[in-house]
This record gives sequence, structure tokens and C-alpha cells, in this order.
Amino acid sequence: MTDPIEEIIVRARREQRLYLLEHECKAILKSIGVPSTSCLVAKSEEEAVSMSEAIGYPVVLKILSPEIIHKSDAGGVKLNLGREEVKGAYSELIAKFKDRHVVGVSVQEMAKPGLEVIVGAMRDATFGPVLMFGLGGVFVEVLKGVSFRVIPVAERDAQEIMEEIKGYQLLQGYRGQSADVASLRDILLKVSDLVMAYPAIKEVDLNPVFAYPKGSLVVDARMILEEAPPREIAAVPKTDLTAVFEPQSVAVIGASATPGKVGFNIVDNLLRLGYEGEVYPVNPRAEEILGFKAYPTVDQIPHQVDMAIIATPARVAVDVMRDCARKGIKSAIIISSGFAEESEEGRRLEEEVVAIAREAGIRILGPNTTGIFNPENKFTSSFIPVDRVASGNVAFIAQTGLFLGVLFEHILSSQHFGISKVAGMGNKADLDDADILEYLARDAQTKVVAMYIEGLSDGRRFLKVAREVTREKPIVVLKSGTTEAGAEVALSHTASLAGRAEIFDAACKQAGISRVHSFEELLDVVKGFSFLPLPRGNRVAVIHYTGAACVIAADACQREGLELAEFSPATVKALGEITPTWHRIRNPIDLWPAIERHWVDTAYGVAIEAVLRDEGVDALVVSVFAMPRWKTYKPDFDLLRASGKPVLFCVEGNEELVRKATARVEGQGFPVYPQVNRAVFALSHLSKYTHFRKKTTSP
Ligand code: ADP
Ligand code: MG
Repeated sequence: MTDPIEEIIVRARREQRLYLLEHECKAILKSIGVPSTSCLVAKSEEEAVSMSEAIGYPVVLKILSPEIIHKSDAGGVKLNLGREEVKGAYSELIAKFKDRHVVGVSVQEMAKPGLEVIVGAMRDATFGPVLMFGLGGVFVEVLKGVSFRVIPVAERDAQEIMEEIKGYQLLQGYRGQSADVASLRDILLKVSDLVMAYPAIKEVDLNPVFAYPKGSLVVDARMILEEAPPREIAAVPKTDLTAVFEPQSVAVIGASATPGKVGFNIVDNLLRLGYEGEVYPVNPRAEEILGFKAYPTVDQIPHQVDMAIIATPARVAVDVMRDCARKGIKSAIIISSGFAEESEEGRRLEEEVVAIAREAGIRILGPNTTGIFNPENKFTSSFIPVDRVASGNVAFIAQTGLFLGVLFEHILSSQHFGISKVAGMGNKADLDDADILEYLARDAQTKVVAMYIEGLSDGRRFLKVAREVTREKPIVVLKSGTTEAGAEVALSHTASLAGRAEIFDAACKQAGISRVHSFEELLDVVKGFSFLPLPRGNRVAVIHYTGAACVIAADACQREGLELAEFSPATVKALGEITPTWHRIRNPIDLWPAIERHWVDTAYGVAIEAVLRDEGVDALVVSVFAMPRWKTYKPDFDLLRASGKPVLFCVEGNEELVRKATARVEGQGFPVYPQVNRAVFALSHLSKYTHFRKKTTSP
């Protein structure tokens, strides 16, 4: 038995059509169990009448033509026709489109009015098939109420895609209208399955779907086919990246004895950091470099070599890669630029280098990057002077080489969380973000992964790996190049294509990725994850020394989806003991009146202890001040730790004193933020991540 869907696709292709007509689409919908108005095709007035009789009045007639995509714009839709009107409407349509290739006239029942929604699917360059949902009619234009999910979608996604749109209340019921959300979810899931099962279908557009209090009905449908049947993409080899991060021996190809040169700095970094493995500089004109014996080519090194750092000019990279293949090296970091990011010629060169590497089973990081930093074995491929190791639990994956340079210095000198691994990705000619994520998922040193992404080559694989990683560890992503202006810059920078902002956002939600929009936010959120346990829920207590900031904090909580905890009677009682009777106790806690009476140790001490003991509080944000002639409050860190709840600090006041207090508090493992709203923002990401984890682990 042939598959009716396949048959329709084959017929369209034979007729050299990419556009499936309404009746064909409805036949497809019928075969997957999605209800729609009927898909009868009349080829004569008599047929139109007899079909109408069979369906029952009123009916709708629509022109069916591969040349007419927007039927009503072209005057090709006749609604609400009675018995007397069908003949006239039919001949009118035929006359109107006599110069077009007309297949026939669609005859269908006039659906009773419902709430109009759109269900769509399209293929995104980065993420592949994507599902879309929105309100139909004028709403879609006025409210821009559409949202996306990457296909395949889980039932939960099909629910969330609806809840996310502006105007979801309309579906839930408003002024007598309401929609059967379950029936819409069913349509969404079936469309998701359809485009997964039929890669030839490029776009689906069910517009409108009428949603009723009971059931939903597709009133119009369009589908577009892929121009060429999609070709299979060769699966990427999965490799153990131990040698990339933890090489026991490394050859520096293009090593130099001249201070300041890239090839010098790399060797110098390894030397100064005290890299634990063997270093073999490769340079045909040197006997030794920085005390290491040099070799003319990599294949003349008489020892095992795990990793090649390539810092030669791009034009010799092909020869160098051949040498590496001969030597049997399994991993390489290409530092050099002058590849795909620069010119067409560079792109070809890059492809050739990758082809040689694939053949030889070599995995490449880069080109055009600073590469790896691993404080554990003190290995780095960076050519930017690195002085410090500062090991910790945050791993960074960054598309920009800038990361292992200036930003790295910024982090190491300003932040007190340490770093577990850094991978500068460069052009991602071979290894990409997903490969590195897979490694970091299993890296015992890494608690949280921070990423800076401009473009993804294989969004689907990234999503799949990220989904697995977020079951264990949070991922925080800063993605740039999502606005059109940004995308152009990204194209010329790392030669990558940026996806659309909404689709990237949707992908993050599906994978439980924390998405941020600036380096400041990235560091704020990562710091929270690095230091703190996850909150059990989203109920937060805020303690501040001024009323104004309490209002700001309350606003921030609401904006970020955190709930201000309702205090238990015991907490209110404890707070009452330090608070003057005229002052109302509420959350956020304005502590100033208590501070005036009892000064900081007692006021903060009592308040913190009370709220942390409160079962209704999942997390705490505390603001303290650091002033020249006042004592800065010093928390009882053991008590904070014992609570098992995340506690975020905010320190304001004299710059020098703030810096000192920050170092002290963060030294004890509690993050400090300069303003209360930034602490709230960071906490909200911890809370959302908790929520995601609960959602994905519960059946
Ligand atoms: P197109 O989108 O190609 O212009 P549609 O088939 O969507 O054509 O028809 C235009 C509008 O007419 C729809 O948005 C819907 O409001 C209405 N309509 C179309 N078919 C029906 C039907 N069978 N029952 C009720 N209303 C319909
Ligand atoms: Mg339509």
C-alpha cells in the first residue's frame, strides 16, 4: 500500500510544483488525524452543486490553482453560500481566473466562527524544523503574538508554545469565547510529527485554525516542499577530547625565539604556567626555544605527541597538517587566522586542512582562535600572556579569541569564582560547541558552563547535547548576532550564520539553557551558579537597608518571575522583636528602623536567621553597606551555609570598602552584586533552572 502523503508529494514534484494546494494539504491533515473542513474538488457547476448538497449549506467555494497562493487577496474565496448562490459563485470564480491554470474549485462547509489561531512549521537554517503558534486574524499583526519551538516537540513544549503568546488569556476564555487548548496541543504535536516524518515538507501553514470550546478545525492549509530532497549530512565523528584539554605532550608548530611573537608567547605561557607535560617547539631555523629542544618538523620529534598547536601562516597549514597526520597526532589547535573568516581562498584552504585531518582522525579546534586553557594541568595554547591559574568550577566556551585574552584577565582580576576550562572556538571548522559541551558534561571540575556564541553550524546537535548537559549542569549562553545588524557583523567576523532571535530563544527554553544578553549578565548569572546551591523554589526574601531599594527589588522580582515569600508567623514575630512597633513588617524587609535601634550585627543577624529558618523562603537576597566610619556587617557564613539555601549579597557604599567586603564575602563562597536588581536577576536564572530540572525529571 502506498503512503497517501508520499503520493501527494510525488505528484506535486512530477508537476514541478513546490506548493501543495489546499485540498492536498487537507488530505494530508486527514491522514494524520487533524480535523479540517472538507477537501472536495469540483470541476463543473453540477459537481459544485451536488457536493454542496452532500455537505449541507451554507458552503464555501475557493479557487484551487498552483498560481494563486493567497486566495482571498486574489478574490478567490466565496464564503457563506446558500443553495441558490453556488452555481453563480462557481462560474464567477472560473471566469475570474480564466487566464490562470485552475485545477478546480474547492467545496467545503462553512465553518462556524471560532477563535482564529495559526499553526505553522518552517525550516530554520540553524535549528532545522521549527514549530510556530500564534493568534490569527488581526491579532497576529497587532500583538505579534507568535512563538516557536524546535521540532520535535514534547507535549510540554506544545503546551508552553501556546502559553507564551501574548493573548493566551483569549484562549483560556475571555468574554464568552474560549478555546479547547487540548485539541490545539494535539494539532501542534501532529504537525511536529508530520514534518519530522516527511523532510520534503519545508513549510506548513494552517491559517486559520478555528478553535472552539470543544475541538478545533483547520479552515485553510498550505504546505511548501523543499526544492531538492534534503541530503543526508555525514555524521560527525564522536571523539574523546581528553587529548585536547589534557595533552601529555605538545608540539608548538611555528614556535619562535623572538619575544612578542605569537610563536614565542605560546611556549612562554607553557613555561611560566608550569605546564605539566612535554613541550616540543617546531621551527626549522632554531636549535632550541626558551630552553626546549626544537625540531625542524613535527614528524621528526622522536617522542609521542598528543597535541599540535599550529601557529604558522595559514598558507603552510596544509603541509603542516600532513606532517601531523604522518606523525599520528590526534588533536590540533590552529591558532593562525587567514582562513574562512578572511576570504574565499581562506575558506578553501580551511576545507582542505579539515579534509586531511578527517582522513587521519585528527580533531581540530579553530582556526583563528586562542584555544584551550586548563588550570588543572596548566595547559594553554593561548598566545596572549597568561599569568594566573585561578582554578575553579566555571568553564567557558567562547567563539571569540578575545576571551582568553582581555576578558579572561578581566574575569581573573575582578571575579572570585575560578575557572575550570576555557575553549576558544574560532571558526569551528571541525570541533564545535556541542563537542566541547559533551566533554565538559563529564568534566568533574566543571559545575557550570558559560558560552559566548555568534553562530551555530549544527543547531540541532547543539540542542540535543545541551538538553543532556542541563540535566546535570547549568549552561548560561550569551548569543550575539541575533538582530539583523548584528548578524552582518557576525558573518564577516567568524564566517558564521546567525539564526533568528526568537528561534534561538525557543531553543534555549527547550534545552533549559539560561539565556543572557550581555557579558555583565553572563558573569552575574554564572557567579550565582558557581557559588550557590540551587533554590528549591522561587520564593525569595529580600533584606535591604533602605525602603527605596526594597521597592526596586520588589519590581525586579516581579519582572524576573520570582515570588516574594510570605513570612511565617514565627518569622514575623522574630522580626517584630527588633522592629519598632510603628514599622510594618513585610517582604522585602526594610531593615533601617531595626538597624537604628540595634545596629547592624543584631539587626541583620536576627533578620537573616529568621528568614532562612522560614520554610516558605527558598532564597535570600541581602543588601549591606560599606561606609568609611560605620562598621560593615559581617555575616555568620556557617549559618548561611547550614541553611542549604542560596544567599546572594549586595554591597554598596565606599568603593574601596565595597571591594574589600566583596572579596571577603565571595572568599566565603557567596556571590556579591553591586545592585539588588542584579542579584535578583541572577537568582531568577537559578530559580528558572531549578524549575526546568523539576519539570524534566518529573514524569
Ligand atoms: P487565503 O488564506 O488563501 O486567503 P483562506 O482559505 O484562509 O484563504 O480564506 C480566507 C478567510 O476566509 C479565512 O481566514 C477564514 O476567515 C475564511 N474562511 C475560509 N474558509 C472558510 C470556511 N470553510 N469556513 C469559514 N470561514 C472560512
Ligand atoms: Mg488562509
